[in-house]
Amino acid sequence: MASVLVCGGGNAAQVVSCLFASRYKVTAISLYADEAERWDKAVKEAKGMTCNFQGTNKAVNSMPDLITKDPSAVKNCDVVLFTVPSSFHEQYFRALEPFVQKGTIFAVMPARSGCDFLFKKVMGEKADTLGLAAFETLPWACRFNDWGKTATVLGTKESISAAVVPPLGKSKLDVILKLQGLLGVEPKIVECPNVMSISLGNPGQVIHPGVTYGKWHSWDGKPLPQKPLFYHGVDTQTADVLEGISGDITAICKALKTLDPNFDCSEVKTIMEWYMASYSTSIADGSTLQKAMSTNSAYEGLCHPMKESGGGYVPDFQFRYLSEDVPTGLCFSRGVAELLNVKTPTIDKVLTWAQGKLSKEFLKDGKMNGKDIKDTRAPQAFGVTSKDMLCSFLRIKKEA
Ligand code: NAD
Repeated sequence: MASVLVCGGGNAAQVVSCLFASRYKVTAISLYADEAERWDKAVKEAKGMTCNFQGTNKAVNSMPDLITKDPSAVKNCDVVLFTVPSSFHEQYFRALEPFVQKGTIFAVMPARSGCDFLFKKVMGEKADTLGLAAFETLPWACRFNDWGKTATVLGTKESISAAVVPPLGKSKLDVILKLQGLLGVEPKIVECPNVMSISLGNPGQVIHPGVTYGKWHSWDGKPLPQKPLFYHGVDTQTADVLEGISGDITAICKALKTLDPNFDCSEVKTIMEWYMASYSTSIADGSTLQKAMSTNSAYEGLCHPMKESGGGYVPDFQFRYLSEDVPTGLCFSRGVAELLNVKTPTIDKVLTWAQGKLSKEFLKDGKMNGKDIKDTRAPQAFGVTSKDMLCSFLRIKKEA
């Protein structure tokens, strides 16, 4: 029987722990403050966890075998699931590294961008003996209801892409079959040719910073009487920003293809393609990106992250839409573009504005060498500072 370590303690970690514990041996680990202790107490109080499936009578009741903050628990697990926001991936990789056994598979959901650079940096020589599966997204839209006790799966994706780097002696198929066995029938894991495609195809880097920039870059600073809608409030100018970022990423893919015509970027979708592939049944009008976003029923009622202030609401720029998706998304793409001499006018505009809101310096004088670059997934943060070094990391044989 598979033995799974679930990392994190938020919505996704709670849902995964409950669903998987009904069939497998599950250890949940949270390294965040006293979260493991609080979660363990909550589960014991409730005599187990319950996960409901919205719109159905289906519910799963179960209890993880262990909830701990002790990273040595990884010794006894053959699959590690990262379901913690990507800003904290490095903390978990570092804590688990001393104890992890050969052959263990790390499934990172979602991987966001540059996860393979981080994995290699932290695991060092061990990396080749371990498996990495970088997922484009989480299999479920989910929220906890009563923290540590009950949660709801709002929807399960039909399919999700994952790029796999198997451990020595195993094939990509071995890894996919093992993970598919854990997930069950849905979602179906679709193999993506390389981790670079997951990194460049990361939709969070386009949508979250793009919509935030579009809404707030010329805000007058006055509190608003109510929270504005995040997706349904997208106007044509904001949709143009998203298409601009997406266009910059397409230009990066073209440059990779020029270096090596065999490098497969076919799975990197434009933002419009991604919307239509992910939400075709819930979009009422898919004639333009703006209409697709504003008529997507899956986004009903979702607002910009706001804080109460001055008798109204002001935007919370520290929310993960910027604090996660800029360093582990946009910075990666901008860093790759720089190494390939690709111009990224929209990414530069959004990144420059967003780093100001985060009080960080990633881009400095047009280069990814600001003082906070080490906190990002840009290749430059991992010492990859030339086209040749990037080609060597990607095992690309340069033709141009
Ligand atoms: P979440 O916001 O619920 O995660 C919160 C958890 O992050 C905390 O419980 C804690 O374990 C950890 N954390 C928070 N602050 C920390 C700190 N300072 N140090 C260390 N750990 C800290 O996130 P989620 O909803 O579970 O989502 C997990 C990932 O999946 C995110 O990257 C999210 O973008 C992505 N995602 C989520 C959904 C969803 O429906 N929940 C859907 C698609 C993608």
